Amino acid sequence: MNIGCHLSFSKGYEAMGREALRLGADCFQFFSRNPRGGAARPFDAGDALALEKIAEENSFGPLLVHAPYTFNPCSADAGLRKFALEAMKEDLSRLGAFKGALYNFHPGSHVGQGVKRGVELSARLLSEVCSGNFSAKILVETMSGKGSEIGSTFGEIAEILEKSGTDAGVCLDTCHAYSAGYDIVRDLDGALGEFDRIIGLGKLKAVHLNDSMAPFNSKKDRHEKLGEGTIGLEAIGRIVNHPALRELPFYLETPNDPAGYAREIALVRKMRGEP
Ligand SMILES: [Zn+2]
Repeated sequence: MNIGCHLSFSKGYEAMGREALRLGADCFQFFSRNPRGGAARPFDAGDALALEKIAEENSFGPLLVHAPYTFNPCSADAGLRKFALEAMKEDLSRLGAFKGALYNFHPGSHVGQGVKRGVELSARLLSEVCSGNFSAKILVETMSGKGSEIGSTFGEIAEILEKSGTDAGVCLDTCHAYSAGYDIVRDLDGALGEFDRIIGLGKLKAVHLNDSMAPFNSKKDRHEKLGEGTIGLEAIGRIVNHPALRELPFYLETPNDPAGYAREIALVRKMRGEP
């Protein structure tokens, strides 16, 4: 299986590859730039190549790059939408250096404009991003529905994808899905069946594997360490072994230090029956 965690980009690409190996990971995620949305560090092609080599030699799963969560693709402010679009294009042009890379973004918050308008704007930005013909696969993340967030229902995600007219995929976040009201603890088959009917499991390309501090259907986005939240280890075990999910790469975004990530990666491998 491919399991990894969120890593810091502060020391560059090769350093993340080495850190992943040290933690027992064989895939990982990082923020393309400071989550506050500042400038990206200068691109270092040699450093990127060094990571590609580590990834190839160790059969890594896809590199997952997360757009800054402060970007709001459906902001009412055209200037802010343009800023997000240009930054995403810059991120994606760099990802050409990595085979099979994935690029994940949050569909945004409508902030009073209404869900319909939010979905429209997010779909428009997705379609503009995809017109750049970048090699990385773009994924829309399922959200918890906090505040005026869109994308907390599978229906809204499906609509964003459809309206965008692109072949973008989806990243399922277990914490978000549970607090959005999809009962992946007591009825995982039901929740995934609904995903399949509304979006199509073929579109699902990655899983953010997180426990949740918040109760079921609370519309709160509070990630927790595996087994310490409301989802719990038994359900996590069913999630990582589910036939519809087990071929996908899993990325931890739990509140951990590196040692905590290493323990969770080992735990998930054990749940999968790996040595
Ligand atoms: Zn996530």
